[in-house]
Amino acid sequence: MQPMQFEIGDRLRLRKKHPCGNFDWEVVRLGADIGLRCEKCGRRILLPRSEVERRVKQVLPRLPQAETDPFDEE
Ligand SMILES: [Zn+2]
Repeated sequence: MQPMQFEIGDRLRLRKKHPCGNFDWEVVRLGADIGLRCEKCGRRILLPRSEVERRVKQVLPRLPQAETDPFDEE
């Protein structure tokens, strides 16, 4: 089985929900430990990569970057 690749900004849905009721996390730090930020309450956690791989249920599509080009409206 291939190791999962994570990048900063990736969004992950975990199998287990955070106490705040949220399942979705954003990758905010890479390394031996992966830093994740809860999308609902903003809390950050650090999990070993192997633990993250085990807990991920689904990789979510990235949110589109805020496109605030003021000249792009019509
Ligand atoms: Zn939370």
